[in-house]
Amino acid sequence: MTDISTTMEIPTHKKSSESEDLATSKLIQEEIETAIIRGDFSPGEHLDESRLAKRYGVSRTPIREAFEGLNAARLVVKRRNAGVFVVKPSLDEIMEMFELVATLESFAANKAAIRATVEDLALIRLAHEKCIEAAKTLDPLNYYTANQVFHERIFIAAKNSALIEQIASLDKRLSPYRRLVTFRPHRIEESNSEHEAILEAIENRTPEIAELSMEKHLDLLAEDALTIAKSAKV
Ligand SMILES: [Zn+2]
Repeated sequence: MTDISTTMEIPTHKKSSESEDLATSKLIQEEIETAIIRGDFSPGEHLDESRLAKRYGVSRTPIREAFEGLNAARLVVKRRNAGVFVVKPSLDEIMEMFELVATLESFAANKAAIRATVEDLALIRLAHEKCIEAAKTLDPLNYYTANQVFHERIFIAAKNSALIEQIASLDKRLSPYRRLVTFRPHRIEESNSEHEAILEAIENRTPEIAELSMEKHLDLLAEDALTIAKSAKV
């Protein structure tokens, strides 16, 4: 899917300074990153430099610079004489990333059970309620977004910025696979009851239970994601 309905306005600037150029390439990098995370660009898809330059109304230089940043974040890969492609991890790599993200998120749930403030707890509960509402809309994308917020509220409550950074980086790379899982029948209801268990453990200040509940939630997600990745060859 390369035709994207959303467009962004990047100011053209023939006489711009270097810092403006940097700002432009950063903006474009963020925009492409969002498009990859949203699934507008699929794993393995070729990203055409001149098409993107046209689309954003800029020269090819900021596109090339944006590619450098995306390459550093391991969201795209450069192939000699072939161009730039959205990264397409192997099944083993997907599993490795899920394993690590499960460990980090379980750690976050543990710390959230200890460190969450009253406000954090209210926000996690609110995010859980939004997940329940999103499930009723029967729109998997609504649920995907609400689920992301629920997980983020827990990282924030864990009060460890290095942890948030690591999870965010892995999440970006895993997003195409996490998103697909949401589309599986019955997964949303199961996911909500797993969230309920995580939330209760955090509210009850029982770090070990919170950790185990999160681990179970993400293990199931990883299993599903792998099954889908195998069959869909995404
Ligand atoms: Zn979840």
